[in-house]
Amino acid sequence: MKPDRTHSDISTREPPEPATVKVSRRGAQRARAGHPWIYRSDVDQSDHPPGVVSVVDERARPIGRALWSPASEIRLRMLTTGAVEINREWWCQQIERARSYRDSAISDTTAYRVVHGEADGLPSLIVDCYGDYVVAQLLSAGLEQLRDDVIYALREVLAPAGILLRNDATVRRHEGLALEVTEAAGTVPERLEVSEADVRFYVLPHTGQKTGAFLDQRENRALLGRLARGRTLDVFTYQGLFALHMARSAEQVRAVDSSATALAVAKSNAQLNGIANVEWIEANAFDYLRALATAKERFDTIVLDPPAFAKRRESLERALAGYKEINLRALRLLARGGTLGTFSCSYHVDGPRFFEMLAAAARDSGRRVALVRSLGQSADHPTLLTVPETGYLKGALVQALD
Ligand code: SAH
Repeated sequence: MKPDRTHSDISTREPPEPATVKVSRRGAQRARAGHPWIYRSDVDQSDHPPGVVSVVDERARPIGRALWSPASEIRLRMLTTGAVEINREWWCQQIERARSYRDSAISDTTAYRVVHGEADGLPSLIVDCYGDYVVAQLLSAGLEQLRDDVIYALREVLAPAGILLRNDATVRRHEGLALEVTEAAGTVPERLEVSEADVRFYVLPHTGQKTGAFLDQRENRALLGRLARGRTLDVFTYQGLFALHMARSAEQVRAVDSSATALAVAKSNAQLNGIANVEWIEANAFDYLRALATAKERFDTIVLDPPAFAKRRESLERALAGYKEINLRALRLLARGGTLGTFSCSYHVDGPRFFEMLAAAARDSGRRVALVRSLGQSADHPTLLTVPETGYLKGALVQALD
């Protein structure tokens, strides 16, 4: 007779224990101090396939469970500090916790970040909501192995109409992963409509930058929208969001970007909102700012939101020179009492470097420039104090006093 193996026999079996990876004293200290990354040099030689592993210190004392990426400089990304099983239920709980934080942190938007990777205790996972749709990024080899569980949890907790994976971020190359854009659930339209305060806008989730929009700037866009007046300039406008927020209170807005594709979306966004006082200009920002100076133009409000000039630490000096140049030019263009909202999203340009650069620009501009307020990422992109890498957007609101 055949043995009686029922379904429940199988499902009550204990899941296999994950492989164990030993880390150095330094690695263990880092993890215990609240940083989830453990680098190659702090990990013993092991050739496990990517996925979840158990992490122990030199004396084999348990540290927790982590994502293992065999090809990455960041070999381990801690998920838990206990021997918790990383299963679908665990993912559901984590996504729910991240989602409920957003309930209190944000309002008045249908586009927001639900999971900000390390800051939400879910390293290498990005999840953005655009209305009923979810756009996510799985950015490590360890996480890629858990794709089915992550998608399951996103469906369970967020119940989206569709999930798109924007797994075309180049960091995936460091993990030995392919770059791809693929639908993981339902179908996601080429173009979605969302809203942010009283501005509606289109998002192209399949082809737009990042997951389709720069959601980290939402609160700063609302702020500049309230402050803008008179003649206003939005440099590096992308799909026009700062410009559209500012168009409500400014008389006239000029918005500049070097990408014709981005400006085409910006124009349709203006139409969508019935906004007609924005002039869209396709130009290199450096050249355009120089031309405005030559023409002796003046603006009451200016926004500078450039792309990351320092993508790597090695390009820091050049990047700082670039930031200083645009900030100096912008400060010179400000009318008396005018306001500048200026940003850097380069992680390598930290707060002190950013403000030093801005002070140097202020000095060279010959203006008296007051720092009204420091700015940062919107609350749905929290910065974890123990993980500085989770905070990358620096900003300042400054005013020309004379
Ligand atoms: N402010 C936008 C995001 C800007 S992203 C928002 O809130 O949504 C940076 C933008 O800078 C991109 O649209 C890119 O096309 C543009 N850009 C990059 N280099 C540029 C340059 N040298 N001159 C003008 N625009 C540039």
